[in-house]
Amino acid sequence: MWTVASYVVRQKLKGRKQYPLVLMLEPLFRCNLACAGCGKIQYPGHVLKQNLTPEECFRAVEECGVPAVSIPGGEPLMHPQIDEIVKGLVARKKYIYLCTNALLLKEKLHLFTPSKYLTFSVHMDGQKEHHDLSVCKEGGYEIALEAIREAVARGFRVTTNTTVFEGHDAKSVRQFFDEMMDAGVEGMMLSPGYSYDKAPDQQHFSGREGNVSMFRKILSNRKPSWVFNMSPLFLEFLMGKRNLECTAWGMPTYNIFGWQKPCYLIQEGYADTFQQLLDSTDWSKFGYESGNPKCSNCMMHSGYEATAVNYTFSFSGIFATIRSMLFSRYEDGEALQELNQEKPKPLLVQIESGSRTSLQGATVRANEDLAQGLDDALDYRGDLTITLKNGKSLAGYVFDRDRQTLRLIAPDQKRHTIAHDEIESIDFTGRDMADGRSWEAWIRKYAEKKAAGETNIELVPEAIE
Ligand code: SF4
Repeated sequence: MWTVASYVVRQKLKGRKQYPLVLMLEPLFRCNLACAGCGKIQYPGHVLKQNLTPEECFRAVEECGVPAVSIPGGEPLMHPQIDEIVKGLVARKKYIYLCTNALLLKEKLHLFTPSKYLTFSVHMDGQKEHHDLSVCKEGGYEIALEAIREAVARGFRVTTNTTVFEGHDAKSVRQFFDEMMDAGVEGMMLSPGYSYDKAPDQQHFSGREGNVSMFRKILSNRKPSWVFNMSPLFLEFLMGKRNLECTAWGMPTYNIFGWQKPCYLIQEGYADTFQQLLDSTDWSKFGYESGNPKCSNCMMHSGYEATAVNYTFSFSGIFATIRSMLFSRYEDGEALQELNQEKPKPLLVQIESGSRTSLQGATVRANEDLAQGLDDALDYRGDLTITLKNGKSLAGYVFDRDRQTLRLIAPDQKRHTIAHDEIESIDFTGRDMADGRSWEAWIRKYAEKKAAGETNIELVPEAIE
């Protein structure tokens, strides 16, 4: 807290209006899970194979100057040099949250040394059945819980991070908090789900009202034993007790493509430097007030927690923070009544039948609608083949475009910049990795289990057909 506080005060004294607090460092996109609500891993194989080097990670951290680094992914423990990355960041006195699904944590703990700078932030999405369904892996909860206990026993700092999706049973979430505190975690982080358009499951994301009503039930009448490792003002925002606007540059994202525009959740291309990200993004187009549909349901910490922290260092913010610490129980009779009246909810699996519409196999010619073709190319999660007017062609994944050029990464990892007016046609030749096929296989598996009476998860009938 002291490190963050002194950093923020320094930025304010310098008169800096746009400063980052936490770097979201994604050193790879590979993962050993394929969670239903995740839109981060749908890339062609040659992209998934790539890693940021430790030097690239250190350069990004130094470039933006943050006091804290969150390392999500992909699964960072699958990075072959993750121990070097962590060691280098600890040496630079950066507070690290290594976000892991913990499937590999127990076997890789020996690579790390306990430090006040290093926290394992374990992805736990609720009680056993809910977590396993959310991460699409049976037994995932037990493996993660065992790893948490082992890490705590060996003296590591451990927190959890939990995404709360629509349909989550509020009572079950509260019991889950007890389970995590009993396991010895230092604190818990919460996030409402964000509807990534590339995530297989598009139906379990609450709108703002749904989020607020759910978090009010979950976070009112708190038990004194619960510790949340988040800004108390951000938690008040989730409960609908205060309004905040997005500060998307507060938690910028860096990965193998560069600095993601504009935020951790939306991908509208990449900048080569942090300053370029700040300068080339029209920030007025993002955030709830902007009316951008991509932001309309977002209450994510990556957009709003930096705002809460920044507000803490204002005259009224200091009083609000002190009040939130003194009255941290948030007694609320109405919320308690709603919670008590809530009937146990069955876990529900629902998915549109059939694969999503995909552009795979389509061709766009420059003399037709090139502008739309370029937008689709940037959005497509598969390789493309671009034929140039000089007859040559280039295949690969398009990760960025501006008014004059697009940038493509080829399977040999070479990057190419192509001027729009050089393009003859764009063919969507590679498999669309966001077509939802793996999720459908998971649904079919559950349908079989349901038929055999082996699960109490409810499947929506038309989804199975
Ligand atoms: S509101 Fe959410 S999705 Fe929109 S820019 Fe902010 S963090 Fe990104």
